[in-house]
Amino acid sequence: MRIVRVFAPLTVVDFDQHLKLAAESSHHLATVLRAEPGNIVHLFDGQGNRFEACITELGKQVSVKILGVLPSGSESPLTMQLLIAVGKGDKMDWIVQKATELGVTSIQPLTSKRCAVQLSKERWKKKQQHWQIIAINACEQSGRDFVPVVAEVVSLEKALQIDNNRLNLLLHPGADGQRLKQLLSETMTSSASVLIGPEGGFTPEEVMLAQQHNFTLVSLGPRILRMETAAVASITLLQALLGDI
Ligand code: SAH
Repeated sequence: MRIVRVFAPLTVVDFDQHLKLAAESSHHLATVLRAEPGNIVHLFDGQGNRFEACITELGKQVSVKILGVLPSGSESPLTMQLLIAVGKGDKMDWIVQKATELGVTSIQPLTSKRCAVQLSKERWKKKQQHWQIIAINACEQSGRDFVPVVAEVVSLEKALQIDNNRLNLLLHPGADGQRLKQLLSETMTSSASVLIGPEGGFTPEEVMLAQQHNFTLVSLGPRILRMETAAVASITLLQALLGDI
């Protein structure tokens, strides 16, 4: 069996104890992959740590014994926050997955005036939990040991108050803003926030509000991109010029 990566949010690492894995991971190992006692798995705790472990017992909750710490080198030197308006349908699922693979540190979904999705508080909470699981799965697959936190969905106004990175970028189509590539080639920072609007874009008032909160308008060129394209393109550019791509 190839070595499987399993998310195990450990608080204390005890090298002698047998640890029980979560039901979902257990099912995947025991039923889908038909793992056997003695197989090695790699655990990651979501905080950037990786461990080697050995399966000791199968069942509804698979038991493992931690054998040791493994080196982890999958985090970018660039801390990056993605602030993004919630898009229609399952667009956010895709965005959370790709943003995680590309190395963002945290994701702040937000609602804005032209946001097409309006849900009750409980349903937003469910969405947030769903996106957090997508981020965990993307880490399992992509070899990241740090899981980006998908924050609670808030309004743009609230999201702007939470954020206080040094480099705050509002992606804005049109000629008002400087090209992102140009700005990044003149910038040295290890922490940045990227703000992306919904399908209908931000209103002029929202753009002004973001500017009042220290967001700089930047453009990704003369074509209008879909929000998910803008997310992938901007994260890639930031990682290429300030991070580890
Ligand atoms: N109909 C809107 C477009 C929204 S596209 C309008 O004309 O304004 C959704 C989001 O993707 C935008 O709010 C912006 O954040 C980002 N985006 C799309 N194309 C872009 C570009 N060329 N440069 C920078 N950001 C872009």
